Amino acid sequence: MNDDPDHLDGNAAAGPLTTVFAVDMTRSVVVCAGCGREDALATLRLYGRQNAMVLRCPACEAVNLRLLDTGTTTHLDVRGCSRLSFATAPDARSAPAER
Ligand SMILES: [Zn+2]
Repeated sequence: MNDDPDHLDGNAAAGPLTTVFAVDMTRSVVVCAGCGREDALATLRLYGRQNAMVLRCPACEAVNLRLLDTGTTTHLDVRGCSRLSFATAPDARSAPAER
């Protein structure tokens, strides 16, 4: 449940991210460069619109991903992630790297 009305959860980023990645990115695992939190992209907080969105860490509020679609070019900024992991096999689940 989303108690904060100024953002959606990361599941709302699924559509725009399919223009960049051929896999469901909401199941990918993001490691926050700010605090080291590791969880599914779907757990991030989405601010903005479909063509200009920011995904923030729910723990420290650091910007993890930014996506801007100008209509002719899609810009993806992932410098807020220290790691972004996703499954490439169709039936595999994305899992964090071994520690
Ligand atoms: Zn964080």
